[in-house]
Amino acid sequence: MSGPPTRPEAQALSRYGAPQRLIELAAIVAWTLLFVYCALRLAAAIAAPGQGWMLAWCLLCLPLAWLAADLGSGLAHWSFDTWGSVHTRFLGPALIRPFREHHADPQAITRHDFIETNGASCLAALPALALAAVLGPDTPAARLALPALLMFALAALLTNQCHKWAHCEPATLPAWVRSAQRLGLILPPDMHRLHHVPPFATHYCTASGWLNALLDGSGAWRGIERRVRRLQRPVGGCGTRS
Ligand SMILES: [Zn+2]
Ligand SMILES: [Zn+2]
Repeated sequence: MSGPPTRPEAQALSRYGAPQRLIELAAIVAWTLLFVYCALRLAAAIAAPGQGWMLAWCLLCLPLAWLAADLGSGLAHWSFDTWGSVHTRFLGPALIRPFREHHADPQAITRHDFIETNGASCLAALPALALAAVLGPDTPAARLALPALLMFALAALLTNQCHKWAHCEPATLPAWVRSAQRLGLILPPDMHRLHHVPPFATHYCTASGWLNALLDGSGAWRGIERRVRRLQRPVGGCGTRS
């Protein structure tokens, strides 16, 4: 990273068009339909005789799913911040561009509406929901997997919303969101501010931020980067942080 991108660079990167919005809208509709279908299946499973334990399993899955979503948000953020460019085929315009634009104009995210904020998160959660929808009917494995997948889909949906809230003026947020930020249940703004310092190479996790200290303190990101670069060397390619 040569330095913080300028506002003109941010405007040049800002190309959120109708096709992308349509895909995100379709992802939100698909997420909603699949989630309701799977939630009804889960409710029926819990109501069955002798299956009350599933309620406790659901409650246990909530923090585990939130942790997994934090890891997922960090991996996606690190990948799209670190590798490729906005010109990378397929991934560049749709997935890498929003992350690079976010460094150039961090407050732009506060102007995104519901679809632009949450569409990509719904898209990322669809495989988990699709798997939950096709799980076999009443096997023990299905009873364990259904709540886990459902909670993960819910947690994944919330990741970018929590990121957006971390950039919003506190006075514009509902009191319960400010409380959740203060308690560290969702990404605290002070923690996320540490990511927005060139070279934008720490604090990638944007759901709860619970894993940032571990992943940054252990040098995990730089370690994976060194390994990936070593793998790339024989074929002459080289990922670049831009
Ligand atoms: Zn970033
Ligand atoms: Zn941010």
